This record gives sequence, C-alpha cells and structure tokens, in this order.
Amino acid sequence: MYITTTIPYVNARPHLGFALEIVQADVLARHHRRRGEPVRFQTGSDDNSLKNVLAAEAAGVPVRELVDRNAAAFEGLRGPLDLSFDAFIRTSTHPGHRAGVARLWRATAHDVYRRHYEGLYCVGCEQFYPEGPCPDGHEAPLRRVSEENWFFRLSRYREPLLDLIGSGELAIEPAGRRNEVLAFLKAGLEDISISRSAARSRGWGIPVPGDPDQVVYVWWDALANYITALEGDDYARWWEREPRKVHLMGKGVIRFHAVYWPAMLLSAGLPLPTRIFVHDYITAGGRKISKSGGVTADPAALSGAYGVDAVRWWLLREVPRVGDADFTEERLVARADADLADGAGNLVNRVVTMVHRFRGGRVPEARPEPLEAVARAGERVHEALEAFDFRRAAGAA
Ligand SMILES: [Zn+2]
Repeated sequence: MYITTTIPYVNARPHLGFALEIVQADVLARHHRRRGEPVRFQTGSDDNSLKNVLAAEAAGVPVRELVDRNAAAFEGLRGPLDLSFDAFIRTSTHPGHRAGVARLWRATAHDVYRRHYEGLYCVGCEQFYPEGPCPDGHEAPLRRVSEENWFFRLSRYREPLLDLIGSGELAIEPAGRRNEVLAFLKAGLEDISISRSAARSRGWGIPVPGDPDQVVYVWWDALANYITALEGDDYARWWEREPRKVHLMGKGVIRFHAVYWPAMLLSAGLPLPTRIFVHDYITAGGRKISKSGGVTADPAALSGAYGVDAVRWWLLREVPRVGDADFTEERLVARADADLADGAGNLVNRVVTMVHRFRGGRVPEARPEPLEAVARAGERVHEALEAFDFRRAAGAA
C-alpha cells in the first residue's frame, strides 16, 4: 500500500490539525506492515508556495531560511509523534521533483494554453475566487490580479471524472465527500490557471518549461510530489503496479486532490490514485487552529508535556470519522487517564500482581482458546481501518 499525507505549506510551524493527518497515516502504515504487506508511507513539505514568500517577507528573513527552518520542524515531528514514514519530500530540495514537475507539464502540453486572466486571489488558499471574502475564512482581503497565465483544459475531464468517481474506481471517503465532489463536477468544470507570473512570486517556485517569466502554480507543483518523489524503480513499483494508492487529506483541499490531480494524471496518461480519505478539522477550545495566527496547539510541545501515547491516543480515540473535533488539554488528559492509565495501565498492573500471587511470578502458558473479545479484536481493528474509522479501531483495541 502506498500511503501519502498532503504536504503542508511551511509558512509556519506544524499544528495539531496536521498531526491528526500524519498520525492517521502512520497508523495505516503500521497496521499494514504488521499484516505483512509492503508499505510505502510518504509525507513532506510544500516549499514553493507564495504564502511562504509572504511569510518570509513579513518576518524579514530570506525565503530559503524560513522554509528550511519550518520544513525541519515538520520533519522533526517524527520523534515527538513516533512516526514511521519512509520518505519526506521537500519540493524545493528533492533532487527529482523539479524535473518531475517539468516532465508532467510537458506530458499534459496538449491540454495547456495561454490566456489573459483577471481574478481575485486569496493567498491563504492560493486560488482565485469570483468574489470576496474568502469562503475558507482567510481574513486578508483578496487581491485583484490581472496577468497572462497558462491554463489547463480541466473542462475536458468532467465526464471521465464523473465515471471514475461515480463507479468507485477512484474511491472518495466518507460518502458525503464523494457526493460533494460529484455535485461539483455535475455543476460543470472550468479550465484552471496553472501558472503565476515569476515577478509576483518573487522568482520563488519552479519555472514553466519554455517560459521562465512564469512559475508553475504551486498546487500543480505540490500535487506532483506523489509521483515525483518516486525515483528510479520506485515509480513503477509504487505508482504503476501498486494496487492500493491512498491519499489522506483535510476537507479544505479535496477539490485539488479529487478533481485537479486525477485530471492532470488522465491528461498525462498516467495511473490514478485508488482511494482518497478526507478528514475534518480540529478546533482548539472552539477556535480554528491555524499555523499562521491564533491557536496552534503545537503537537511536539503537547507530546513533550503529556507523552506521545496521550497525544496519539486522543487524536485516534476522540476524533470522529465525520465532523470536527474540539481539542483541549483537559480532554487530552481525561482521555489518557481513563483509557491508558486507568484502563490499559490498571489491567497490566492487576495481571502482573496476579501472576506473582497465583503463578509464582511466571507467565503461564496461553489457553488454547483465547478470550473471544481478544480473538476478534484484530479483525475489528482491521475492518475499522479499511473504512478509515480510526476512532472505531481505537475502540476495538
Ligand atoms: Zn482563502
């Protein structure tokens, strides 16, 4: 199984919302490895965003410095969250990424054309909207942008995408998210702008092949990471031959992954991912979590304060498959106390005491038939994880 997380913008340090996604991916990776299946678990950072450029300007530091520092903080979640990813791709430093993006661009050249564009741009979302304010809640006013851009003939892929998603060949879960994508497709698809002026991007990003005055739209660049990170034989192994390719993501970026990305691959004649799982958001004390302002709920700091098991367990046991979850430190502590200390901890303690008292301190042979609840737990965990229901899987354990 090939499992990916999205690659976040590195305009700031990681927050608890991304920790949810990467812990979910980690659980899937560990579970399938334990079942003896080959697994590649990949994550990374989106270094080439205009958002990163603006954050660096606001902080008065070079873009390279800001991006390096924050990308290191994301990669550095590995220890505090006990993650087992096999690869971490940074889009500004990975040796194959830039060439891979250019290759993908050329493979879709038959669907790419140039035209003048005017629109309102939200830097927070890195996308155009017909009118403000930003529907995703970014507070900075949208900027009117008028420039020549390269466009991708997304409109051609409406019917093929309806077929692929409607038939489940490209599975989107939960079902409400699949229906959301189908409704979006049915309403009609417009071509999308896939480049930005190099001047507006301060030269940061990947140049458009054959047009150095333009850089590749950061989403096109970022989405490509799922294949450009696969070097040499890994591409054939994990993208062409692997029957299970799973993308995990938050609800805010579903259109990019379930519409733009498959359309890009169809245009290039490449295989598609097989499953998309969309999680909702975590709020903190009722407020939106954001990297760049307000509540961050730093996952590394939480792990330092309460232990990695408490943080992971809260993310898995409390966050529902559908719907937002509200985080507070009190809830994290209450959950860890109830399940890990009073539940699992107390069970181990009692068993050890009884082994000493009744079995002379030696662990007895297992009964030939284990308790039914124990015998079925593994399968119940597996069934829940097949449905991306992490809370149910944690409950079964
Ligand atoms: Zn926005």
